Amino acid sequence: MMLAYMDHAAAASEPDAGEPTVAVDAAESAAARDFGGLVSARPAAVVRPASAEDVASAIRAAARTAHLTVAARGNGHSVAGQAMAERGLVLDMRALPRRMQLVRLADGVFADVPGGALWEEVLHWAVSKHGLAPASWTDYLRLTVGGTLSNGGVSGQSFRYGPQVSNVTELDVVTGDGECHVCSRSSHPDLFFAVLGGLGQFGVITRARIPLSPAPQTVRWTRVVYASFADYAADAEWLVTRPANEAFNYVEGFAFVRSDDPVNGWPSVPIPGGSRFDQSLLPAGAGPVLYCLEVALYQHHHQLADDMDKRVGEMMERLKYVRGLEFAAGVGYVDFLSRVNRVEEEARRNGSWATPHPWLNIFISSRDIAAFERAVLHGMLADGVDGPMLVYPMLKSKWEQATSVALPEGEIFYLVALLRFCLPYPSGPPVVDELVAQNTAIIDACRSNGYDYKMYFPSYHAASDWARHFGAKWARFVERKARYDPLAILAPGQNIFSRSS
Ligand code: FAD
Repeated sequence: MMLAYMDHAAAASEPDAGEPTVAVDAAESAAARDFGGLVSARPAAVVRPASAEDVASAIRAAARTAHLTVAARGNGHSVAGQAMAERGLVLDMRALPRRMQLVRLADGVFADVPGGALWEEVLHWAVSKHGLAPASWTDYLRLTVGGTLSNGGVSGQSFRYGPQVSNVTELDVVTGDGECHVCSRSSHPDLFFAVLGGLGQFGVITRARIPLSPAPQTVRWTRVVYASFADYAADAEWLVTRPANEAFNYVEGFAFVRSDDPVNGWPSVPIPGGSRFDQSLLPAGAGPVLYCLEVALYQHHHQLADDMDKRVGEMMERLKYVRGLEFAAGVGYVDFLSRVNRVEEEARRNGSWATPHPWLNIFISSRDIAAFERAVLHGMLADGVDGPMLVYPMLKSKWEQATSVALPEGEIFYLVALLRFCLPYPSGPPVVDELVAQNTAIIDACRSNGYDYKMYFPSYHAASDWARHFGAKWARFVERKARYDPLAILAPGQNIFSRSS
């Protein structure tokens, strides 16, 4: 059963849409907003699909009109309107039934999950019901499977297991002509790889098959501090290039400011509940920006605690962090993966979850990360961004080259994520425009300095910018669009193609 919520004006202007509707004011709908809070686009209707067939019906209905577009909306955690459709149809993918299924095949055990499931739901279902878990995660798990597979899906596990787009074996996809397909690397591989990292342009993911393996029980979680970026980067790159049997399961890290600011400064470093940060241990020459490397080793019940301690110790003793500034804890696996929920709770409490989030995510090659650090992190952002500044490396060879994702050239590249939070006015200043301008200046600096970089969650308006972003993949991206969504109905909020009639 599909319910469409359509506003009166749009319903009157679209008599041929032919779908069941309930008239409400769509402007009040969450579909007109996203986590970024920077743009708003009023849909004509919000469709709550109960099946892939409902998704197909909505797309076919839009195709029969001269101008309706269709945007799948996962959990709306985009920051620049990517899941919106101005006077189009928004598919609320959270409405798909949350049925998850365990699938045992000759080559392993898999979870079949709906495109609208949150990764958090997948985690709890897989661990509590089956003692199993996917290998690759995002830091924050209240994101949908379809939403992250349309982008990449990265976290501290990506260096070892690949991003989420490398950890899926089969998809159910409804393409822009309203046809339902099952695709994988062996069946319709072109569609499969197009959709992965495809920014929603080629089809709507209604089901994904995710490989599972035995879930660990506990996690040895450690954070250490660096005053020198060169040491930080050298150690992080050493850790992500170790053979799998001698590596951590998770390597991340972030920049922080040398101050007692609870969000940007050293209070953000200690693992909650652990020892405090003793700033007197910082070397005399430490600058205004410092670095925290974060690593984790998983422990399964058959592994001995002493062996795990030894493995952690062997890797840590080689690192050049500031001795004494180390923070360690043993935590449950689910608690470790749910660690960002605490950030959400605090941000909801102080109001900064609901204010705009002018976030910037960039992938930047190891070749240019030191120059970027000097110019941007140490220069433009020396006072912090009122939120986490993630900086950690991953490996290009862990990404499927055939997907739509655009990556820098080099094998080792860093995610730099500037996750800005703004306190509600009047407690905090209304600086959003300045922050957006600073993001633009950072991208301009990357371009004018010739850095090898790509935006993660790109937001461009001009075709020339999209062509530059996709580079050698652009011609294929355009061809695939013509093949799978010839009227350019899907994901209009990405501003890549315009609807044709
Ligand atoms: P939406 O914002 O709803 O949609 C994003 C895009 O995907 C839109 O174009 C939409 O049309 C399309 N889409 C959505 N569902 C489907 C579908 N089923 N089929 C086809 N297209 C679809 N990203 C990381 O990689 N790692 C992180 O650690 C991480 N942490 C985050 C933490 C927070 C607090 C936030 C707000 C974001 C974070 N992100 C992270 C970014 C996040 O992965 C993207 O914003 C992602 O798109 C959000 O998923 P969503 O379900 O909310 O998608």
